[in-house]
Amino acid sequence: MEIVSEKIEKTIIIGSGPAAWSAAIYAARANLEPLVFEGANTEENRMQGTLPLGQLAQTTEVENYAGFPSGNLKAFIDSAIDDQQQWMLPPVEEEAHAVTGPELMNLMRQQARNFGTRVITDDVVDTELKETPFTVKTSENGSFRCHTLIVATGARANYLGLESEDAYKNKGVSACAVCDGALPRFRNKPLGVVGGGDSAIEEATYLSKFASQVYLIVRRDQLRASKIMQERLSANEKIKVLWNHEVQEVVGEEKLGVTGLKLLQNKENQGVEIEVGGLFLAIGHTPNTKFLRDQVELTESGYIRWTENFRTATSVPGLFAAGDVADDYYRQAITSAGTGCMAALDAERLLAEHHLL
Ligand SMILES: Cc1cc2nc3c(=O)[nH]c(=O)nc-3n(C[C@H](O)[C@H](O)[C@H](O)COP(=O)(O)OP(=O)(O)OC[C@H]3O[C@@H](n4cnc5c(N)ncnc54)[C@H](O)[C@@H]3O)c2cc1C
Repeated sequence: MEIVSEKIEKTIIIGSGPAAWSAAIYAARANLEPLVFEGANTEENRMQGTLPLGQLAQTTEVENYAGFPSGNLKAFIDSAIDDQQQWMLPPVEEEAHAVTGPELMNLMRQQARNFGTRVITDDVVDTELKETPFTVKTSENGSFRCHTLIVATGARANYLGLESEDAYKNKGVSACAVCDGALPRFRNKPLGVVGGGDSAIEEATYLSKFASQVYLIVRRDQLRASKIMQERLSANEKIKVLWNHEVQEVVGEEKLGVTGLKLLQNKENQGVEIEVGGLFLAIGHTPNTKFLRDQVELTESGYIRWTENFRTATSVPGLFAAGDVADDYYRQAITSAGTGCMAALDAERLLAEHHLL
């Protein structure tokens, strides 16, 4: 790998979601002078959902990031802070809205930059982790070296790959029921969930609280889900399983979003149409770890394995993982930000131990 700089960075951060920016904020404030590779603005990254600013930038409404409500900011401030304390705040216009996903991510990025974080808009395509300093190879900007590396590259949701599915992302097609299920557009409507594993049943069960009916669309005539989840499924009257069905097309209108699905009953090769107000994909995630090759221990499902309880250390000393790339369980912006902060603190402590600060 051709090294472009003699400098050995104290810490390099790869990623561009809440985990990476939180790590950068903490690292910068601790004088680690972090260098962030935030990914590239390429068509390939757009297609697979790995553009700079991460997954949260793919959604408009974020209602559950603590301290950042969605909707009308003035109304929120009025409900949260009494009149006597409002003099401390800058004036807020009646129409002002609080925050959307892309805004929240831009705020985090700018907060990191304000503390001196350097950001390069490029993909990391390879790493050399057998010895320290580590080497990080980028697509367009050559290679860099560092004493500690924070990997916060997230995981991308798997989609079916239909054109109509892509057209209705954010307009009724989602890959995260916990994130989007409670939005007004999905309430009291029939919804479709694709998948046959534990997470599909979990998503369907969650959605059944808001939907009028949930169709669980299963390609085969059996589920991969555990027995306990299958029992939970049969006990839920709102969920109807459509066995041997595959989604062929998402139907909708520009203004309304998703209105239905064209399905194939694959046993009798018969087309079926159902009305739904949304489609949720629960067919797994792919963690973004290709550039690590086989140098770091991964879990069976390909996520980076955290090797110490409640720490972000991995099987490679000096390499820390944060956010969805190491977490297939919580997968939320706020948990990613939390582990991002932890990774920066872990890197700082390791650098201090080795007198590299
Ligand atoms: C549609 C949608 C809606 C969601 N809504 C919510 C919500 O309302 N609330 C909530 O809490 N969570 C929500 N989530 C989940 C949340 O977005 C994720 O849990 C969170 O973004 C994970 O953050 P992260 O920092 O681990 O990485 P990500 O957000 O996944 O970001 C990783 C980024 O790293 C960069 N990257 C990847 N590979 C490379 C590489 N090789 N080189 C350089 N850069 C690279 C890319 O820019 C990539 O986008 C939603 C997810 C989706 C898909």
